[in-house]
Amino acid sequence: MIVCKFGGTSLASAAQIRKVCDIVLSDPKRRLIVVSAPGKRDKSDTKVTDLLIACAEAYLKTGSAAKEVEAVITRYADIARELGVSDDLARAIAEDIRGRLATSTTDRGHFLDTMKAAGEDNAAKLVAAYLQTRGVEAHYVSPKDAGLLVSHEFGNAQVLPESYRNLAHLRDAPGVTVFPGFFGYSPAGAVVTFPRGGSDITGSILAAAVKAEVYENFTDVDCVFVTNPQLVPNPRPITELSYREMRELSYAGFSIFHEEALSPVFHAGVPVCIKNTNNPSAPGTRIVLDRVCPLGSVTGIACGDGFCTVYLSKYLMNREVGFGRRLLQILEEEGLSYEHAPSGIDNISVILREREFTPAKEAAVVERIRKELQADDVSVERGLALVMIVGECMRNVVGLAARATKAFATAGVSIEMINQGSSEVSMMFGVKAADMVNAVRALYREFFGA
Ligand code: ASP
Repeated sequence: MIVCKFGGTSLASAAQIRKVCDIVLSDPKRRLIVVSAPGKRDKSDTKVTDLLIACAEAYLKTGSAAKEVEAVITRYADIARELGVSDDLARAIAEDIRGRLATSTTDRGHFLDTMKAAGEDNAAKLVAAYLQTRGVEAHYVSPKDAGLLVSHEFGNAQVLPESYRNLAHLRDAPGVTVFPGFFGYSPAGAVVTFPRGGSDITGSILAAAVKAEVYENFTDVDCVFVTNPQLVPNPRPITELSYREMRELSYAGFSIFHEEALSPVFHAGVPVCIKNTNNPSAPGTRIVLDRVCPLGSVTGIACGDGFCTVYLSKYLMNREVGFGRRLLQILEEEGLSYEHAPSGIDNISVILREREFTPAKEAAVVERIRKELQADDVSVERGLALVMIVGECMRNVVGLAARATKAFATAGVSIEMINQGSSEVSMMFGVKAADMVNAVRALYREFFGA
């Protein structure tokens, strides 16, 4: 059995949905389909999920969202008409969306998630109905009936372990099952969504639950590239990646596959294949447990900005038992998660995400470090970017760091931080955000010779 997930651009119009169904019908093993909400038809378009968020926000603010709701309903009605499914379905979708708007707004998170989930839920109904018009035995299955249970964290659901047992029966479901991505239900019965882009996570959970032979993730590019094509023109394609490489690459900017989506398939040992709905015969990129690669080769170059550093020093810090714990405890108590913590003998830098480290948090953290840890010096530097080279076969190879740092030197990029050795498959460099693109291009030239 193959589990296929189709992303928003694959559902954006009737023409795209026809392609999805052609793909599904071209292989009888494709029996469990996960769909996103209709995405952008072109660059200037708006995703249905964003339209739904606009509905919810307008309603919360003004008590009405007539114009916003109309935009969503029209999107579905146009697709339904062009697909030739019954008018009853378009009416049912309109009713569903209006009905959701009438749910209680007391809990803002619950209300928002109820609206957001409408995108995938109605897309799944539409795809199942369209497959039926083509004579296929297709069934829409609700995450509630199927038992996709998640934690009660609106917009940030985590799958609960019992879901895998609950969902395993879908392996024996007749015909083609069409399952909405992006949301599940809390044990108390509330709709809860995964983080944005979370339909990848639903597909991964289902692939693990039914022990699929492969999890196919259909998007709108032929494959994963060695680096971001917006930064380097025509980068080389990657045909195969390990789960670990994909995890490292998606940490710093590879957004093709949701970073939280790897865990279920990884633990179940299900390989992933990233494919293109608009070019399904392209082989795509496979993500597997183990792979063979040339010694010393770099698989990909990733980058991400929006980081900052809290630097502190204290004479004889290395002799103070519990210093690191107390520092991290301050961050924990301020609700901050840290990304990295490179250290020296008498100093340590903690790298955080800038968006979490608001000026108010910064003031509180700096004050507490001074007072509670009696640090000699504390400073914060914003505007940091992380650039990474990733590769399973970089391990135990002499000279890779030298090549990377030489490439930076030639490009005039100053390195603020190096983190090498903690991860066996990556080398991470902190650079000023303004230097990030140059840094990536320099590494690409060095390791991929362009
Ligand atoms: N529709 C949701 C979003 O736009 C989830 C997804 O597409 O995976 O974030």
